[in-house]
Amino acid sequence: MPTQLLLRGGRLVDPAEGLDAVADVLVGADGAIAAVGDPAAEAGALEVPKGATVIECAEKVVLPGPVDVHVHLREPGREDEETVATGTRAAARGGFTAVCAMPNTDPAIDDGAAVRALLESAERDAAVRVHPVGALTRRRAGEALAEIGEMAATGAVAFTDDGSWLASSRMMRMAMDYTKRFGVPVLSHAEDPLARGGAVNEGEVSTLLGLPGWPSAAEETAVARDIRLCELTGCRLHVQHLSTAGSLELVRRAKAAGMPVTCEVTPHHLFLDETALLQRRYDTALKMNPPLRTSADREALVAGLTDGTVDCVATDHAPHAAHEKEMEFELAPYGVTGLETALPLLATRLVAPGTLSWADVARLLCHGPRSALGLPEVRLAAGFAADLTVFDPEARVEVGAGGFESRSANSPWTGERLLGRATEVLVGGKPVVRSGKVVA
Ligand SMILES: [Zn+2]
Ligand SMILES: [Zn+2]
Repeated sequence: MPTQLLLRGGRLVDPAEGLDAVADVLVGADGAIAAVGDPAAEAGALEVPKGATVIECAEKVVLPGPVDVHVHLREPGREDEETVATGTRAAARGGFTAVCAMPNTDPAIDDGAAVRALLESAERDAAVRVHPVGALTRRRAGEALAEIGEMAATGAVAFTDDGSWLASSRMMRMAMDYTKRFGVPVLSHAEDPLARGGAVNEGEVSTLLGLPGWPSAAEETAVARDIRLCELTGCRLHVQHLSTAGSLELVRRAKAAGMPVTCEVTPHHLFLDETALLQRRYDTALKMNPPLRTSADREALVAGLTDGTVDCVATDHAPHAAHEKEMEFELAPYGVTGLETALPLLATRLVAPGTLSWADVARLLCHGPRSALGLPEVRLAAGFAADLTVFDPEARVEVGAGGFESRSANSPWTGERLLGRATEVLVGGKPVVRSGKVVA
């Protein structure tokens, strides 16, 4: 029997409600928020209904459900790296109440049956909500459109060939023309073939390390093309894992011109730059797509978080088996995990020093991504589904100590001491994290 939950005395932060105050939240047995205390009255206290479970939230921040719009769950095909069960447990532990699952599985998610199969796995195994993203082209081969209409009807929230770029402008135009009819965005893994063979950012660091370079221009030309096609077709465009100051400027200009363009930035591009490769030579935990860029790029991305150019922080959680990463840098696969560290990294590196407010965090992890991908709105207000996270910003956690929930451990932050931990996570009113432990 589900019971009512009373979250007592937390600091509720929700810019969509103009809310940043200490107050109680009552979650009804139906999984929706039943009441939020009036912050003006006696510290927002609510009466405890009979039989309700009380969760003390003093000194903790309560956020509307964070969503990671860029996650690789690896199911089907690479269950040795991650599954719907383990990936969503990692998400819950990191404080996320929902994830968007990328379609570059094996086989790819490119028709209605594959979307349905993912939703069924999620129904059975997932700790948090899973929103499927479909492929733009069949088998992600870039040659023929995938079953976009069928996938949209089955529940795909967006389309992308992520892992590779749709290099044919003609095919991309067709995909955008078609996708536009369903009111969902096209997501762009912006990587022009100019990047081919690149291992690290092209420049001084690639020269010093003797590794093949990957120029910023490979991303920027791709972003420019996709913005131009967005203008041509009117289809909503969302740029994935944007990594250079130049790409950010292109998005900034498109937004200023009123175009339906949004973008995401990953924690690794916000908090690491290519100089990490000089300190941790040939550490494959630093090999990602796109690569770590210069410190000037990194600083521009951080500035983009506050001026509204960046819509969301998304992890591009890309689990890989240890034996695959234990390889020469050039041969190792691209990608790092990120679900369990994103929120603590933002808390430690940007909120604690005062660069970002908690309201900014709610915008970048909840409202921005939901609006970019058209996902259901989540708010700390009566009537909304109780998808929310209680975060303890004072908890001290060493990354990787005690293991990861993810089946893979290719995190660039292992051993790092971070501030903050999700202590309670509710999805539709159901606790999936209790006292910092995943219970789903
Ligand atoms: Zn990608
Ligand atoms: Zn990806």
